[in-house]
Amino acid sequence: MKYALSEASRCVYCGFCEPACPTLYPGGHRGHGPRGRLQLIATLAQNGASRLVEEALYTCLLCGACTLLCPAKIDVAGAVREARAYLRSRMA
Ligand code: SF4
Ligand code: SF4
Repeated sequence: MKYALSEASRCVYCGFCEPACPTLYPGGHRGHGPRGRLQLIATLAQNGASRLVEEALYTCLLCGACTLLCPAKIDVAGAVREARAYLRSRMA
């Protein structure tokens, strides 16, 4: 989770990335967008997995569109990938 937490910690939650995300509006809440996913990743180690977290992470298309609009070029897809691996390791 080191990389994912490092990327999440750089987010200032400005929301500039959100219009690029194809899953945000169909998902119906912020957890289905890049900013919400990073927020959930930032607290994943403390709060643990939940249905909300799993849905947020596994509905990400890993398309990278959010990174193109992010002023800090945060690698949301890379952070989501690592967070998924973390979740799998906790299930094993
Ligand atoms: S644009 Fe970048 S810094 Fe702003 S909320 Fe999105 S990921 Fe975070
Ligand atoms: S990588 Fe995930 S969070 Fe970023 S735009 Fe694509 S679906 Fe949305």
